[in-house]
Amino acid sequence: MLHTVSAFDRIGEENAFAVLARATALANSGRDIINLGIGQPDFRTPEHIVEAAIKALRDGHHGYTPANGLIATREAVVRRTLATTGIEVSPESVMILPGGKPTMYAAILMFGEPGAEILYPDPGFPIYRSMIEFTGATPVPVPVREENGFAFSAEETLSLITPKTRLLILNSPANPTGGVTPRAEIEKLVKGLADHPDVAIMSDEIYDVMTYDGEAHCSLLTFPEIRDRLIVLNGWSKTWAMTGWRMGWSIWPEVLMDKIRKLAVNCWSCVNAPSQFAGIAAIDGPQDDVETMMRAFDRRRKVVVEGLNTLPGVSCATPKGAFYAFPNISQTGWKAKKLASALLEEAGVALIGGPDFGILGEGYVRLSYANSEENIVRALERVDGFLRSQS
Ligand code: PLP
Repeated sequence: MLHTVSAFDRIGEENAFAVLARATALANSGRDIINLGIGQPDFRTPEHIVEAAIKALRDGHHGYTPANGLIATREAVVRRTLATTGIEVSPESVMILPGGKPTMYAAILMFGEPGAEILYPDPGFPIYRSMIEFTGATPVPVPVREENGFAFSAEETLSLITPKTRLLILNSPANPTGGVTPRAEIEKLVKGLADHPDVAIMSDEIYDVMTYDGEAHCSLLTFPEIRDRLIVLNGWSKTWAMTGWRMGWSIWPEVLMDKIRKLAVNCWSCVNAPSQFAGIAAIDGPQDDVETMMRAFDRRRKVVVEGLNTLPGVSCATPKGAFYAFPNISQTGWKAKKLASALLEEAGVALIGGPDFGILGEGYVRLSYANSEENIVRALERVDGFLRSQS
């Protein structure tokens, strides 16, 4: 009998990976499956970025880099941060990590322990809660509601802070809802946080460029009053279609840098060198591919929302960010996870049940529109046929 520690019995996962595995198995058995389940762009990494990695390998960059990342990569992040937020951060506060997820892991590990409370968005990215539970801290869901455009409410968030609260996790533009929290609400929140100086904030801004209809992303970095307790998560995965490169960045209060650097030394040493060179090319190179991708996402977003709103029992608010739609399916008579599973098995459409993103996810499903317009239309026809055949 092996005796693993109890933390590993509390760790959760991202059901999107299980759905992807099932969808792939069905496709391999000859079924025609349309995948609207997985949260990754269906675009290739732009060619000049791939070339930069190949060049780095040819130039002999095969070894370890500093644990916090190459200075050139961190300086590129500084330039990018200045361009998108107007804020100049020090390269000493930038950490290059193997993806966006390791920032969550590090931040939650740094503040989570039994007796501590960590606030996180619900519905939200499932790894937040999973990692909080892993540390033994108490997860405290902050509701984000459809009637509020899936933005978080400053008042409700502040009302959930107790003397035990150590960390507040924010995410805008958001997965799975596509919600974008407006600047005015974030201003209110930051003002209120002045009464809670011991609460750290982790702002997940990995979808920062992905906003629509002129909606502006508001970075928490633009509030200097919380800078000494703010961790900003960002990365290359979504913006430059680089999910498989496993590289992200985060910006930390300088007092925490030594802790996160040591964690890196203990866990992963550094991010592979060619990816870090590719990351510089992504930031400094032409952005036309990003713009083309965003135009495609915007077109598909409209197709998805329009299509969803014609389905029986389904209504979908127009998402303002990311590449997800989060339709309300409560009038279909289906439980969300049962519907997601039936759609995959019987209609060949993969999507994710809302409860995989939290308690408040019941009554919703998540569709990723990182798929071609043609496939989106076919998928919606199949869902329509399925729902009508059941009523
Ligand atoms: N944060 C959010 C909100 C996400 O949706 C994702 C990926 O789906 C990540 C972070 C993780 O990104 P990465 O693939 O870089 O680890």
